[in-house]
Amino acid sequence: MSKRLEGKTILITGASSGIGRSTAIEFARTAPKNLRLILTARRIDALKEIAEEIKKDVGEGVKVLPVKLDVSKPEEVRAFVGNLPEEWRDIDVLVNNAGLVKGVAKAPEIDEEDMNIVFSTNVTGLINMTQAILPIFKKRADGGAGDIINIGSIAGREPYPGGSIYCASKAAIRSFTDALRRELIATRIRVIEIDPGQVETEFSVVRFYGDKAKADAVYAGCEPLTPEDIAEVIVFTAGRRENVVVADTLIFPNHQA
Ligand code: NDP
Repeated sequence: MSKRLEGKTILITGASSGIGRSTAIEFARTAPKNLRLILTARRIDALKEIAEEIKKDVGEGVKVLPVKLDVSKPEEVRAFVGNLPEEWRDIDVLVNNAGLVKGVAKAPEIDEEDMNIVFSTNVTGLINMTQAILPIFKKRADGGAGDIINIGSIAGREPYPGGSIYCASKAAIRSFTDALRRELIATRIRVIEIDPGQVETEFSVVRFYGDKAKADAVYAGCEPLTPEDIAEVIVFTAGRRENVVVADTLIFPNHQA
């Protein structure tokens, strides 16, 4: 249990599966009193199921608001923030987790539509969310307070053949995060990046357009992390006292070189 997270309002994007879902559950278990969780993604039914699961798991101390939201649509993101009920507006932590990868293709074969989906979700989507939530953080004393936790990837540091678009999108998150941290240096707003290595989620199934056999082959010779492993790090990072910034974390399975 963490007293520091009690009473906080946490917004997680891409909360309908994988790391986002586990992060919601981990926040709820760590701070089961007076916590508010805003869970967003496109699959609203999955979000509602997670809300029920959390209620059964920790009881009524944690309030959950599931909201259908496509982060790649700036007008939808602005409307989402504008329409939040009063008691949900005072957001303390934004976990920018929504993201995807589309296929593996060497540069000459990159599909234009796939490229646009990856960038508009991973990069523009993350920026849309940040721009929408920053004014809430900035209203607080001393130039503002709050946490922006961006989920990058080891791929943003170590690009691989056939992954140029995804890797470039995650490298863009890294640059954006670093620049934003410097822009906000005189405030109490913490800008954080967490970069996972291989984690077993729907991610790789999405990568291969639903081909589970191909997805499983990604993990050959390496036991991937679980989404819970990443969730624990996210919640730990958000739970540090205000002067401590765990700014940049790389977390990967022992056998991933
Ligand atoms: P999942 O596929 O399980 O989760 C991705 C989440 O993003 C889903 O909840 C999905 O929800 C959401 N999402 C995708 N597109 C959009 C959109 N346009 N608007 C809103 N939500 C969207 O994969 P992971 O949990 O693994 O991925 C989470 C993050 O972790 C991603 O940023 C990914 O790049 C990163 N990551 C994953 C690694 C891995 O090996 N799994 C390694 C390194 C980083 P929905 O479809 O309902 O909208």
